[in-house]
Amino acid sequence: MLSDKDRIFTNLYGHDDWHLAGARKRGDWDNTKAILALGRETIIKTIIESGLRGRGGAGFSTGMKWSFMPKKEGPLPHYMVINGDESEPGTCKDREVMRHEPHKIVEGALLASFAIGAHTAYIYIRGEYYNEANHLQAAIDEAYEAGLIGKNACGSGWDFDFYIHRGAGAYICGEETAQLESLEGKKGMPRLKPPFPAGSGLYGCPTTINNVESISVTPTIMRRGAAWFAGIGRPNNTGPKLMALSGHIEKPCVFEEALGVPLKKIIEKHGGGVRGGWDNLLAVIPGGSTMPLLTKEVCETVLMDFDDLRKVGSGLGTAGIIVMDKSTDLIKAIARISAFYKHESCGQCSPCREGSGWVMRVMQRMVEGRAEIEEIDLLEKITGQIENATICAMGMSVAWPVQALIRNFRPMMEQRIHEYKANHGGATQVQVPAEFSVGAR
Ligand code: SF4
Repeated sequence: MLSDKDRIFTNLYGHDDWHLAGARKRGDWDNTKAILALGRETIIKTIIESGLRGRGGAGFSTGMKWSFMPKKEGPLPHYMVINGDESEPGTCKDREVMRHEPHKIVEGALLASFAIGAHTAYIYIRGEYYNEANHLQAAIDEAYEAGLIGKNACGSGWDFDFYIHRGAGAYICGEETAQLESLEGKKGMPRLKPPFPAGSGLYGCPTTINNVESISVTPTIMRRGAAWFAGIGRPNNTGPKLMALSGHIEKPCVFEEALGVPLKKIIEKHGGGVRGGWDNLLAVIPGGSTMPLLTKEVCETVLMDFDDLRKVGSGLGTAGIIVMDKSTDLIKAIARISAFYKHESCGQCSPCREGSGWVMRVMQRMVEGRAEIEEIDLLEKITGQIENATICAMGMSVAWPVQALIRNFRPMMEQRIHEYKANHGGATQVQVPAEFSVGAR
């Protein structure tokens, strides 16, 4: 478990002053000039050596991503884009950073932008995060006023400007290339890759996109050293990580914990345990609604990190943990997730546009049991055809929750179908619940 001395976000709960004076007391902006004086290559090397993997879901090495940017600025400017869209259901960690530790974002933005040779950074904030955007704007204003950013930031000789862009609430704008489109004033539709953003990103210029948490931890890594960060967690899964617990637990919360801690332990330590006790647990979604759910049996031993969750057929994702006890209608819960992804599909590629609607409609019938047993196999087959045939990862978001339901709870689905047939004498005409109708939010 993470000890207090290793916490990065010491004002996560907002008990302290989030303004510049409070942030400085906690160590933010402490001799940032000296960090910048280390130079671009040393900063990138340190972040690579720390083992920091992107905290937005994909888990790619942050330092490696920075290293893909051109070493020298050519005719086109470089841009840093910070992803604060955070629209994945079950995920609410970056929100706490924006409202209680905004200076970690501003300082991290300066260091990351300097490392990739960008004089300008944008942060794309989910539209619903109104108060969070206000806090961050206040922190940016304070940093400008104190000479920490702007012309000759921190007296380093590096000019740096930082702007907030507020989104309008589309989930798909959390996808990095859709976010770039949206920043450019267009519809948020993912781009085909390649070219990758490091070659052609915002306005066709070299761009790096990082999650809020990834950016916010970089100043502390630079101050405390790569070895300190790499010494927390497990090999290839290093450092402290913000996680969120919601659902059927006693105390929903956001907390910072070392990667690699047992899931069961954090549900009990931070969440106060499963409502009704551990034996009342039915399933857990470990990393935001896209990630395949885990059975109670797996939850007994699985570790919360990239590699262990992948080993059991799921993923760390955003570490937004959703706990479901035995009162949950699991088929209905997954059908609701299917409706969400159908609603959020941008519609530009047919496997996702058509497939997400088809999956949602079949899942609506599965909720009632108004289906044939063979349709479970059909669901599995069609979702398999959707997941790897789309422009962006939304295809996986459509497929994975349903596939995990079938993989782990198929008898529950079959029982529902048998019950429906028994109660309706084999009839199949039942009203679809209004919340699942096509076009419903
Ligand atoms: Fe749009 Fe879905 Fe295709 Fe992604 S997978 S580009 S969200 S239609």
